[in-house]
Amino acid sequence: MFIDIVTVIVILTVILFFLIVLPIKKEVAVEGLFEGARYDRAYDGTKYRLFEFRQYCKECMEKWRNAGEEPRNFNNTCTSTVPRKAKDIGTHSYQKGDVVKLIVWKNIFGTIKKYKVESSDFEYIDYYDYKKQLEAKKAGFENVDEHRKFLQKEYREKKWQGMIEKHNLSRDEAMIFEPLVMPDDTEVKRRGINIFELKTIQKKELYECIYNKDVQSALCDEIRYGDELYDRFQKENEIPQNILEHLNVCAQCNYMFLRHFSTEAEVRQRFNLRTTNEIRDEQNARRLNITVLEYQKQYNENWILIHGGENCISLKERAQYAKGAELTMERQEHINTCIGCKRMIIADRADFLATGQIGGLTYQAYEKSRQTVKPTKK
Ligand SMILES: [Zn+2]
Ligand SMILES: [Zn+2]
Ligand SMILES: [Zn+2]
Repeated sequence: MFIDIVTVIVILTVILFFLIVLPIKKEVAVEGLFEGARYDRAYDGTKYRLFEFRQYCKECMEKWRNAGEEPRNFNNTCTSTVPRKAKDIGTHSYQKGDVVKLIVWKNIFGTIKKYKVESSDFEYIDYYDYKKQLEAKKAGFENVDEHRKFLQKEYREKKWQGMIEKHNLSRDEAMIFEPLVMPDDTEVKRRGINIFELKTIQKKELYECIYNKDVQSALCDEIRYGDELYDRFQKENEIPQNILEHLNVCAQCNYMFLRHFSTEAEVRQRFNLRTTNEIRDEQNARRLNITVLEYQKQYNENWILIHGGENCISLKERAQYAKGAELTMERQEHINTCIGCKRMIIADRADFLATGQIGGLTYQAYEKSRQTVKPTKK
């Protein structure tokens, strides 16, 4: 009798031991385009290996295809984890950009005991490409390119109509402009640079203008990624004091925060928040070691150089100059004092002679970079 109980206990223990240790259930955890893997640790100290996949994994894409549920994952990545203790039994070598599947074996309690990565036949498609495909289909187009051309045509027509009404152009004059690239084309010409230089400069200026390391703090992250903060605000209509103080000195956070609200002015008034521009001017004046007024003067002058001011060459004059290279004496005087306008109309004329349009060259450059920039990944 005694021996029987001991035997039973031993047998049960052995069974339990095997159940815990034995990986009995094999499944595919995730399939997708591999981005990377790293070891990490959770808040409670559990160590794990994290696998990251580019937007989005097979499961997400299938849900989207079949149930119309568009994936919205944090950071546009799908992830999967295995405990650090789990054994990697894989032999297949893989790297970033490979389409793979993560296979795991679990014990009866669902704990992953071993895993491996294998190649997968999942046909990865870029999220934005797929979205465009859906939109094209929905609008009744055979393919994305046809849809894109149609949308461009619509956009141009709308813009030309706006120019005719707002700037008193004839239809012929309006049609000299390529609306698809207009603000950038104007900026490129007024600054005397090319389109690729412009993209670099724009990024840098935005960064310098609004980012300031003197006021950076942990609060910046909380505000930037803090959906919690907005939820709390929606519910309690309150913003913590330390956040409010930060919002009045950090232009970047001020901008990010207020962008979340449709009633920006109201929120600003209610919490006595300053405008992003006010903080930005102050930050930049301090950075450049000049007064706020001096900075604002600089800023306005730069603005006119880039975008043109009230007295600058109008759209109508641009169209006319591009065609005939003619200006009245009075306007000639203006371009002698306004370097932005001078560069612009000279470039407009060359552009028109080469392409028959204002913005034709910039448009060509864009189209060319669009074709070369995006290699399809296998
Ligand atoms: Zn996914
Ligand atoms: Zn901040
Ligand atoms: Zn001017």
